[in-house]
This record gives sequence, C-alpha cells and structure tokens, in this order.
Amino acid sequence: MKGKKTMSGLLAISLLAAIPSVPALAGPVKWTNVNAYEEQNESPFNKENYDFVKFSQVYKKLESINKQSNRMKIEVKGTSANGNPLYVVTIADPASHGKFGKIQALRKQMFKNPQKAQDWIAQNPDFKVPVMINGSIHGTEFVGTDAVLQLIERFATKSDSTTKKILANNILIFNVVQNPDGRIGAYRFNGEGIDLNRDFITQSQPETKETVALIKEWNPMVFLDTHGYVSNYAPNKQGLIEPCTPPHNPNYEYDLFEKWSMSGAEAMEKEIMADKANYSGSLYRDKMDGVYIPQRDDSAGWDDYPPIFTPMYALYHGAYGHTLEAPTNDLDGVRWMYNSVMGALKHATENKQAMITDQIEIFKRGINFDHPFHREGHFPKAYILPVDEKDPTVTRKAVSHLLNNDIDVVQAAKAFTAGGKTYAKGTYIVKMDQAKAGLANTMLWDGEDISDDTPVMYDISAWSLPELWGFTADAVHESVNVTAAKVNNLTGQGTLSGKGPFLIPNSSVKAVSLVNTLLKQGTAVKRDSKGNFYALAQANQVSEAVKKSGLQIKTAAVPADAAPLKSLKVAILKDQGIWKTQSHAGTKLSLKRLGFDVAEVTAMDVAAKGLAGYDVFVYSGTEEIIALAEDMYGPNKQFGFKNAGQLQDFKANLGAFLDKGGKYVAVGAGASIATASLGLTDDTVITADPNSNGIVNVDYDGDTVTAGYGKNDLGFVFQPVWYTNTENDKVEATFSTKPDFFVAGHWNDLYSENTRDSARGKAVIVKEKDKNVTMIGIEAGFRDHTDYLFRLMSNAIFEK
Ligand SMILES: [Zn+2]
Repeated sequence: MKGKKTMSGLLAISLLAAIPSVPALAGPVKWTNVNAYEEQNESPFNKENYDFVKFSQVYKKLESINKQSNRMKIEVKGTSANGNPLYVVTIADPASHGKFGKIQALRKQMFKNPQKAQDWIAQNPDFKVPVMINGSIHGTEFVGTDAVLQLIERFATKSDSTTKKILANNILIFNVVQNPDGRIGAYRFNGEGIDLNRDFITQSQPETKETVALIKEWNPMVFLDTHGYVSNYAPNKQGLIEPCTPPHNPNYEYDLFEKWSMSGAEAMEKEIMADKANYSGSLYRDKMDGVYIPQRDDSAGWDDYPPIFTPMYALYHGAYGHTLEAPTNDLDGVRWMYNSVMGALKHATENKQAMITDQIEIFKRGINFDHPFHREGHFPKAYILPVDEKDPTVTRKAVSHLLNNDIDVVQAAKAFTAGGKTYAKGTYIVKMDQAKAGLANTMLWDGEDISDDTPVMYDISAWSLPELWGFTADAVHESVNVTAAKVNNLTGQGTLSGKGPFLIPNSSVKAVSLVNTLLKQGTAVKRDSKGNFYALAQANQVSEAVKKSGLQIKTAAVPADAAPLKSLKVAILKDQGIWKTQSHAGTKLSLKRLGFDVAEVTAMDVAAKGLAGYDVFVYSGTEEIIALAEDMYGPNKQFGFKNAGQLQDFKANLGAFLDKGGKYVAVGAGASIATASLGLTDDTVITADPNSNGIVNVDYDGDTVTAGYGKNDLGFVFQPVWYTNTENDKVEATFSTKPDFFVAGHWNDLYSENTRDSARGKAVIVKEKDKNVTMIGIEAGFRDHTDYLFRLMSNAIFEK
C-alpha cells in the first residue's frame, strides 16, 4: 500500500517536469579477466593485512547475491583508466524498481520548483531518498568495498525489521569499487597514477567522471565515502567520521549541512559503540571510547575546504557528505565501516523528511538568489565568459565542464553590455540564480587568501578554473539583460582559411597538441621567437587535424626568425608510489594532453639503460625518486636505489644524455631539489613550508621558455620553491615584487624560516646558460589541472 501511494504522488509531481528516461545501461555486465599475477594480496603501506575480497571475485559475489534477491540491479557504468569495469549496485524494495526514472524526476523537480518539491514531501511521507555509498576510492583501503559487499548482501536478502524499515525509506546506490586499478595493484591511485579523491574539481579521470554522473543522476541525500586508516588520532578514539574542522568553503550553504552532519556522525559512532563486544582486536575492545569526529574533537587540521574530495564535491549537489576512515585494515575495520554506514542509514531514515527539506532549501536559495548566511555580494549575479575567436577551445572546455556538473549556461543571442563592458554575440553567461549556484561559484571564483584563518590545511586551498585553466570569467554584480539560449551541448570544429602557411598561435593546450599532431604526421612546422607556430603545408594536409583541434587557423607569413621543429620523444621520471602517491602523474598527463609522446622511465631504467632514443627528460615530483633505499621510510624502500652504484650510474647516464644534446626540464619543488643534488645547477634552491600552496602573481619575461606569458601574470605553487645565486642562469620568471603577490590559497610561515615575504621578486623559472637545463618552480602540470601553465613546459621542451 505504501508503495502505491508513493507511486501516485510521484506521478503527480512528475507531470510538472519532463520525465527523463532511465539512463541507458553501459552494456551488459561482463566478466573480466584480471591477471592473477597482477592482483596483489597486500600493500606494504598498510600496518595490517587480511584476506580481502579481490577485484576478480567482486562480480561473482554480486551475481551470487543477485540470484537470491529481487531488490537489486547491477550495472557497469564505464571503465577505469586501465579498463576495469565500474560496478554500480542499486538496491530498493521491489515495488520501487522500474520507477527509478520517476524518482529521479522528483529529484530534478527540486531544481525547478523547490517549494513544490518541499510541499509534496510534507504531504507524502512515503517517499524514498537516495543514499550513495562509495567503495574504496583508494586502492589500499580495502575494507570499504568489503563492507559495501556485506551491506549489499544484507539489503538484498534479509528481511529483519531494520532492513525493511531502511528499504521502506531509502534507495541505496553502491559504487562498489571506485578504484578497481588500485585494488588490483594494491596502490592508492588509479592506473594513471592519479589520486581520485583529489580529482573532483578537475575530473580528469574516467572513474571520477563516472561518480560525478552518478551523483547527478540521483542527487543523493547522503553520500558516504569509505576510507582508512585512522586510529588513535585522539586518545581512545578509533576511526574518523566527518564533519570537519574549519575553514569551511564559503560557497557551501554550510548552516544547512551543519544541522544534520554532526547528528549523523554521532549516529554512526553510536552504532559502532553498540557493537563493541563483537570486535575482536584489543584496539577496539580495550581502547575505543568513541570515534574521532574532527568538528567535535578538534579546532583545525581536517578541513572540508576544497571541492577536490568526493564527499565535499557531493555537498555542492546538496548531499550530506561524510568521509569515513576505518581504524584498521582487517575484519574489525570492515565491521567498523559496516556499522558506520548502518548508523548513517538509520539516521537518514529517522530524519529524512527534515533532512531532505533542508537539502531542497539549498537549491531554493540558489534559484532565489537568497543566501541568508553569506555577506552581500559574495555571489555575483552572473559570470560572463567571452569567447576568444581564434582559440575558443579553453572557454569551450570550461562550458562543457560546467554543463557536466549540472550548472546551467546560456549563450547571448546578440551583443550586450554588462559591468561596463561590451560582449559579443555568442558570449556564454552563467547566471547565478540557479539551483547549484554554490558549485558554479566554487568553480568560477578567484578564491581567497586563507593563510591567517588556520595554521594548516589538509590539501590545496585554491583551484580557480578561470585562473588555472586560462579563460575569462567576469563576475558582474548587476543583472544581465540579453536574449540568451540555454546551452545543451557544445559543438565546434576548427576551421582553416587561406592557402598556407598557417599560423597556429601559442594560445592553449589544444593549440600545442595540434602542433604535435602535425609534427607526428610529418608536416613541417616552425616556431618563432614569440613561441607561435607555422605549419608549412597545403590546406588539405592539415585540415583534418585543425577540424579536430577546434581552433580557427589562418594563413600568415612566416617570420625570418622562425626555426624548424621536430617531433620530440619525452621521457618522464616515474614515481612508482613513494608515500603512496605518484608525484609525477599530473605532469605526465599534462604532457600527453600537449600531444607529446611521453614514456615513463623509472630511476632504475635510467641507471641501467640510459636515455638513448629520447630528446627530453622531465623530472617532476618528489626528490626521493632518486634516493637510496637505505635512506627511505620503510614502505618507500622498494622504490629506491639498492646501492650507491646505481645512483652513480643514473647520474652518469643523465650526464651522457645532456652531453649528446638531450634536454633536461625540472618542474616543481622536489625536482628542483633533485636537480641541485644531481649537480645540474649551481643555484641555491629554497623551499617554503611543504603544506603551502596556491595561486601567485608571477612576472614572466615573455620570451623563450615563458613565451605567451607576461608581467603580473599567474602561476601555481605547491610547496613554494625559488632560486638564488642565479648568476649562471637566464632568469625567465620571478615571483612578483608586490606585497600581495600571493593571490589565493594557504601559505603561512609558521613552520618554515623561508618566508612568503622573502620570496617576493625571487627567480622562479631559470635556464642554465652553459647547460641544457631548465628549472620551472611553478607547478606547471599540477594534477592535470593547471592547463593555463602547461605551455611553460611545451615552451621549455621546444626551445632550442
Ligand atoms: Zn583514503
């Protein structure tokens, strides 16, 4: 009966909005073969080991549960970087199956007419809310998926009163293994080396894109992200459950989240403590008085500021998002995680009506442009994104990204004026009176300097897409009045005019990628002293590549100083997983997106075989990639040189490569330190506090390595680094001398004597005069996010 009543109510409200079709399945679920030799039993970074469910067993397990159940749907929603399936399991009482499209339509109604959605909910208490549980986004944190499998089994097959009550009120969506590559290889990152739980603003990886699509599909009311391992963070507190310490990002409607996040966390803690007698380890039986809840138990150190983490990203879609950190990598850890999720489900069930009303309130505030807890003017009325006619690719990428994130974008049907500026027809506008205004703002704003707000931040504190992707987004604080059409999808092919030679401006990642495509297909390309490119070819030889690039290419005369380029083979030094990360991975992806042939080489490869066959060697990442195993922290030792002879061979082979005309490019702080220790520079390399990061003003000299960049331009630092004693260098760029050269992020001097103020005006990109060695202190390829700065690397690579 209940189901029936819900159904008719849903239908009534669905009439108000177009019912979206149920999203197509990504094809039949297939068994995949995982090479047993690839599948690891443990990670040396985990203190404990146990017989966790291997990825190759996951689908068998799901299928066997499914055979006993009529509540469950298994789908494959795409594949990981290495091509492994991404399983999604949806569990609901059988009456709800087949109505998912309508339930999702109700969710969509929240963005169209939130007041109606709230009224409907008040009158129809039988509605079901989606709750999403993300399994093991970090490959080494095995207990998440194991707990998810146990939860799936329970909710698919059991009929006790708790199970029935939860299913009467919720739809459970399990992202069963968020990171199959990492689970198979027993590493934290995915197959590309990217930490997926840092990728939610960039969304460069297929796993992240899948989760974003899933969040958009359901707009879950609660989002739980399963992690490990945190024990005794405070005495006798085992595990960690968010909400977080300050600072909270000002683009949240945090007051509404806060109303339920602490009671949710405490409900999870209560469930764990009620089951205490069933744990077997003494950590749990003898030393567990509760769980560490950062916001309750601390004042700083575990913040929810950047939208790079999965639950924080989900917050912008209105979810009550929590990171759950199990204490140990064993069956007790699985139990802890299972208990946590059960506690959250009970809390959501008890409070769903009030919780969802507040979730909808977030969207209502957005649509009504009514933010009672924000200072006046925090949100602009609109962002205006003009399009560069010659190279629209960067703005197009931005608009696509916004659309993929459920943000409405319109396009002006004619020219208009706003904020004292005139914009052309075709300009994109992001009006801020929309449901997901908070997400739009966190992506499009400039950010803020929060260095004085807290002693230390957990990760990055600035990510502005306009500044770091390199497009204009003008914030205007007046209403924009122009006829404009909703943008649904973006098309846009490149065009070619004239008979050649063709000028390719050094203006974007796509432009450089086009140059590399042409070089690989054998087209002659020259580069002038300003960094622009000239394709010496007939139109028909380049038209296909230009179409794909999206650029508007014209014929131009080739300047006399333009020099021919050749297709270059780039080797990047591979971090195999020091401190559980692959510190080179972002730069590797950046170079690939610039169109270079990039091979990853390990330090041992270079020591054993040298760099024959490569033109350029890129070092980006921790200085420890070239450390001796004996000097390294336990689990890192597997990645270090076994003896001093290997390090000597590495140096000798690198020296020989440079002698033969090879080029060496270092990117970032760790690589700069390594460059000095290798004797490739006589500069003094100075680093600030390793936790500092953000967007900075940089004065680029604008030629050679910094062609296309100017004075008072932008850069990004992550552990800021600069160089002194640069007499033997050409200094290509310096930090700005302005007192406020630090634009946004977190950089204070509490833990370093190398102060922020002392960095002003210091060299940050240098090229050795007598060696083919360039050091870029800017994080030009940071996590595949800093598109605007990628060309510093292509410039350095192409420069003679
Ligand atoms: Zn984790």
